[in-house]
Amino acid sequence: MTGDAALINEYNQCNKNSTVRIADGSSSQVKGIGLSRISRDVILNSILHIPKLDYNLISISKLTRDLNCVAKFFPNLCKFQDLDTGKKIGSAKMCSGLYLLNGFTPQKGQTQNGILAPHKGRSVLNFYVNKDSDVMLWHYRLGHPNFMYLEKLVPSLFTNKNSESFKCEVCQLSKQIHSSDPTISYKSSHPFAIIHSDVWGPSPVKNITGTRWFVFFVDDHTRLPWLFLMKEKSKVSQIFQNFHSMIQTQFHTKIQILKTDNAKEYFNSELNTYCLNQDILHISSC
Ligand SMILES: [Zn+2]
Repeated sequence: MTGDAALINEYNQCNKNSTVRIADGSSSQVKGIGLSRISRDVILNSILHIPKLDYNLISISKLTRDLNCVAKFFPNLCKFQDLDTGKKIGSAKMCSGLYLLNGFTPQKGQTQNGILAPHKGRSVLNFYVNKDSDVMLWHYRLGHPNFMYLEKLVPSLFTNKNSESFKCEVCQLSKQIHSSDPTISYKSSHPFAIIHSDVWGPSPVKNITGTRWFVFFVDDHTRLPWLFLMKEKSKVSQIFQNFHSMIQTQFHTKIQILKTDNAKEYFNSELNTYCLNQDILHISSC
């Protein structure tokens, strides 16, 4: 029995006018019925919702019948043992004359839950509330499923919990496919001091002018790119010379450094001679 409907899964309204006599002698109406998990291994059926109840209570006689287990009472302890397997399925500690179920941490606002006590020939015990670590444990065991799907799969794990509030660091990191860009350690002081260049092609499809190769120049200072089309990649040298002329005319400055890869379209006698004559330093980046 519980006074908190949130602890009950698969809640059904109780239409019969059933009542339960509680500890102060008064009668209280049974509002609903459902099931609840009291430990990792134990799910109880027929949990009654009685709004006036201040404690969560379990009938030991019903518990032992439903679960086919034995309850052993010791001076300071109570143990529950499965009769088929002999496995211990739960325990409770004596606390102020009542038995407090192990593994239960009262939530904020909850008082005196977690108690198992002799009561008119029956004993009473609170419901186990799943911890956040249980949710994470099952998230790991099942291969990191989305918490929303985990809730659909095991609703009882999320009693009084919001599946959207759970975050898994492993999941977050595994979705991150790129590390952040390294800080640029050097940047040229003015436009066109350093030009980066590369060639791409051949394109599987020719464009309408019949070109299949591309060369681009990127200004290190402004990061602005220029793209030129080529019918043959051997045209790179001539295109660079034209590009340099355009820079001199339009921007009144000269290229100081040309950075390229080791491709032979860059390292040939024509471009080498041009760079030497123009005092351009040609650097291979790899
Ligand atoms: Zn995860």
